[in-house]
Amino acid sequence: WAVVRESAGVWILVVILSLLALLSLHLRKTLAEVTRLTHVDPLTQALNRRGLYDATPRLISIAQRKQWVLGVLMLDLDYFKKVNDTYGHIVGDQVLKRVSATITKNFRLNDFVARYGGEEFVIIVDRIDKQHIEYLCERLRSDIESLDFKTNSETIPISISIGVAFCGKADTIESLLYRADKALYLAKQSGRNNVKTEEQLIPTASAVNM
Ligand code: GH3
Ligand code: MG
Ligand code: MG
Repeated sequence: WAVVRESAGVWILVVILSLLALLSLHLRKTLAEVTRLTHVDPLTQALNRRGLYDATPRLISIAQRKQWVLGVLMLDLDYFKKVNDTYGHIVGDQVLKRVSATITKNFRLNDFVARYGGEEFVIIVDRIDKQHIEYLCERLRSDIESLDFKTNSETIPISISIGVAFCGKADTIESLLYRADKALYLAKQSGRNNVKTEEQLIPTASAVNM
């Protein structure tokens, strides 16, 4: 009897430990899903603002320590209100999804792509030189302009403007976004469908800590 009881005890222990292992796996999966849901924009699958703000401090501090170039790209669809007004919000949403997919296709897997607001995206690119970042912006701008987005056999003209800021020694995500936004404003003022870097801004508004 003693042997039977002992082996039954072992089996009960094995069952309890297996259940605990399953529960812990389930909890980890749930936690990962909750994290994904709170960090990803459901429409475009890009990171949301929280995802961006969570990821960037570490990225910026590594770039500053290793003296890597890090570019913050702020991108805004041109005359997007008109797209909604003309074709409706559902079509507008499809355009946003297509733009997001085109951005992702144009950048590396470890670059950060976030939907910053309604029709604004932020991309963070590091470890390549400034000219290459400008080249990538220009390629993206051109790819978006060439999107053949059709609705009822009518092609909707889509374009974006991009502002770029480069990370300096004392920058934070806030200061970088501030300057990228200034460059974006310049791109809009210059007729839209173009790319401007902070280096093209007038000196007083440009990098304060490069
Ligand atoms: P600009 O070239 O100056 O950027 O002009 P714009 O029309 O793009 O700018 P504006 O800020 O006037 O309009 C932005 C529009 O984006 C208005 C809003 O309805 C639309 N928008 C924001 N979020 C969403 C969204 O999730 N889905 C859709 N379909 N539209 C959105
Ligand atoms: Mg816009
Ligand atoms: Mg906007």
